[in-house]
Amino acid sequence: TSSSKDKVFEAIESKGVKFVRLWFTDILGLPKSFAISPSELEGAFEEGMGFDGSSIQGFARIEESDMVAKPDPETFTILPWRAKEGQNVGRMFCDILEPSGHPYAGDPRYALKRNLAALKEMGYDYYVGPELEYFYFKDDKGTEILDKGGYFDAMTTMDAASNLRRDTILTLESMGINVEYSHHEVAPSQHEIDLRYQEALKMADIVMTYRIVVKEIAQQHGYYATFMPKPIFGENGTGMHVHQSIFKGKRNAFFDPGDGYHLSDFGKHYIAGLLKNAPVITAVTNQWVNSYKRLVPGYEAPVYISWARRNRSALVRMPMYKPGKENATRVEYRSPDPGANPYLAFSVMLAAGMDGVKNKYELPEPVERDIFKMTEAEKEKVGIRSLPGSLIEALMLTEKSDLIREALGDHIFTNFIASKKVEWDEFRTDVSRWEIEKYLPLL
Ligand code: GLN
Ligand code: MG
Ligand code: MG
Ligand code: MG
Repeated sequence: TSSSKDKVFEAIESKGVKFVRLWFTDILGLPKSFAISPSELEGAFEEGMGFDGSSIQGFARIEESDMVAKPDPETFTILPWRAKEGQNVGRMFCDILEPSGHPYAGDPRYALKRNLAALKEMGYDYYVGPELEYFYFKDDKGTEILDKGGYFDAMTTMDAASNLRRDTILTLESMGINVEYSHHEVAPSQHEIDLRYQEALKMADIVMTYRIVVKEIAQQHGYYATFMPKPIFGENGTGMHVHQSIFKGKRNAFFDPGDGYHLSDFGKHYIAGLLKNAPVITAVTNQWVNSYKRLVPGYEAPVYISWARRNRSALVRMPMYKPGKENATRVEYRSPDPGANPYLAFSVMLAAGMDGVKNKYELPEPVERDIFKMTEAEKEKVGIRSLPGSLIEALMLTEKSDLIREALGDHIFTNFIASKKVEWDEFRTDVSRWEIEKYLPLL
């Protein structure tokens, strides 16, 4: 709107902004950025800024490489870590357009916008609250962690990490991002900062910002933060559980006071849709070869497709209802990792859940037992399936899914699968340290 543009110009004036960074993401959710001077901004709002899309992952081919980035004034903020009196740096998220002015089909932000608009047509809004975990290392080789959590190192090394976390939270808050709480996670040097739930488009932007802020602050302290899903063998991996709910205006469509679980039929169908479609959305929620090293038994990450209220080995958890907190009625989907593209991950989870709502899928019984302790036969008997065990397994399932093709749009769907198969081939043909150590002495 023109008033949010006015606010941007006011902020640029009053805060002495000298550069405006324009942010967007490629199809894998990696951040891209270029800077313009404030004098270009008027034109950027009107027509967007041109750039060459051919070197962006999943964007245009060489022969049609002209792209346009149009900043969204609602997303303007100052980058606090670049703050300097009279020389501030601002940033905005962009929508990517074709030179004709049409939304570009390869823009993940557009894919999410399109899915949210379709939901809005039905009168609903999608809210998400992700829990992003991450590790601190001394450097980007990942050889040394910051806090070993061991008795002897407790004092000094734990301090380093809590200072980092505090600075990170203060930075997020100064950018208008609400933090609910934060804590040291299970693994050594593993941390989590949880955000207050938010409408999905805003939250996808926030996830992008969060990942950059966590890394930026670590770097300022001379350390390295990573969202790699499983950086250390034998320790918990890094998840991004996503709490989800759907509202109609101010009313939580998942809540029903009369139900034993306080879950409406809408909510039950949504969970059933997530469960049924879990195999086809996993390539998107867990998009790296390494993501599948996390989804193994024994590390609080889901492996089997089930739901429960308390059981944390379940894929979908339905947190206990607290009286008076109907807005908090939600489902927690536990398989995603923070290496996902948030725009696409939210898009496919929404599509999965709404498929259940539209087709009234029946919710299976919850499984409160520890599934890791069940035998194959027991799992078979209650009909518990597994998540795909590798990136290629996941891709082969996704590839056949019209639901996901529609949620991502043809362009992203095709490019995503193609680029991920290249990654799988690189991995498949590599001769790893494990193989050398195992086979060379043996054969
Ligand atoms: N790190 C675990 C995961 O991989 C989650 C641990 C937790 O938050 N309880 O999902
Ligand atoms: Mg948590
Ligand atoms: Mg956690
Ligand atoms: Mg959780």
